[in-house]
Amino acid sequence: MSGENWLVLLPTEAMEVIDKSYAWGNLTCRLSAPDKAAIVVALSNEDSDLVHLTEDPDHFLTVADFNRVGHWYRVPADAAFCAYLLTHQHATMPFDAFQTLVPQAIAPLPGQWHIAVTFCPDPPEIRDGERLPAWSAWTISNDTVRPISLDIQDGTQHVTALGSLWPTSLLSTSRALLLGAGSIGGAAAEALASYGVGHIDLVDPDKILFHNVPRHVLAAASVGMSKVDGLKASLNRQWPESNISPWPIDLTANANITRPLIDAADIIICTVDGVEPRRVANYLARRAGKPIVFACVLADGRYGEILRIRALPEVGCLDCQRRYMRDNGMIDPEPSLDRGYGDGTRHNPMTAIGGDLHLVGSIAAKVAVATLLQNAGEVDQTLTDDNLVIALRPSPGYAAPFDARRALHPHWSSATPPYPDCPACHRHP
Ligand SMILES: [Zn+2]
Repeated sequence: MSGENWLVLLPTEAMEVIDKSYAWGNLTCRLSAPDKAAIVVALSNEDSDLVHLTEDPDHFLTVADFNRVGHWYRVPADAAFCAYLLTHQHATMPFDAFQTLVPQAIAPLPGQWHIAVTFCPDPPEIRDGERLPAWSAWTISNDTVRPISLDIQDGTQHVTALGSLWPTSLLSTSRALLLGAGSIGGAAAEALASYGVGHIDLVDPDKILFHNVPRHVLAAASVGMSKVDGLKASLNRQWPESNISPWPIDLTANANITRPLIDAADIIICTVDGVEPRRVANYLARRAGKPIVFACVLADGRYGEILRIRALPEVGCLDCQRRYMRDNGMIDPEPSLDRGYGDGTRHNPMTAIGGDLHLVGSIAAKVAVATLLQNAGEVDQTLTDDNLVIALRPSPGYAAPFDARRALHPHWSSATPPYPDCPACHRHP
């Protein structure tokens, strides 16, 4: 029979209309036969005019045809119980039997089928305190009635629906500043939004180009757009509750704009490559007393590095930590960042693969979010330490801490203290 394996999507607005109506009404859906999916877009109260519902312009069914496809019915508890039993037995029932439960049910002409949505205001309890669903969907022909899947759009598509599992309300009032919207930055932005960070400022002057696409979270359809505007559009679609502010500017040339953004931020994530912008970000964050997380890949994508510089007197800034490495016979990886994975040239566009860059971006976002949450008293977000080097394609010949021999080996180390003559760590008027 037609109508098997269909899914009906029911917007909250439709539920409100049905809840205020009488016993039945007409149902208009947009539907896609290849997808076997239908969304309710208009309905009536008995024979009244159709009430049209607000449609999401980005939803894939919004371009589909719409038809009067059936009816909704207010039903007794027995109908909710039937839907439950038939669904679990993958069974159908004769139309006549359905009509004894739902006397107002209308049979389609032979060879045609309808969609029905039923609402049981008082669904039966199957276990202590557990009631059957009030809403069900069906396909109806003139001889057979079959329960089908129904999904209710009731706010569960938002990160805030996960509030019992994760401190979403705390993060919804947090503001993160992301410097750099390249391959690492784009992945970090997506992760920040998926953690529920309420406001994200994105700073990057570059447009997305074709050679960026295989490593970036944005697709070829965004080529030519500024990276920050492209990210805002894609983040708004998936995480509409995150407020995204795009700033298509160069951080080093626009300190007058960057400085107030740093002041407004609860945390900064710096994914820009190049020594100079990292140094500027380090200085501005330090002077503003804000925590900053630096994320990059080193040694042609062999290692990912995430440095967290907390705004504490005992923690040295980026310059101090690199100076400590040089003073103690370690290699300072900072200068290598100028010939890093994404310097905007086409000569060396592929020194780390997209998945590895996204991994580093996601870890940087986790480090930033954990820092905010730990400061707010969420002790289970205490990190192992401040500095993390993670092996991506380890290779012999690199000195500690870039000496892991196995992929994904994490090397944590402590932040080193500030130097007394550091101009970022100490103001020397
Ligand atoms: Zn310093």
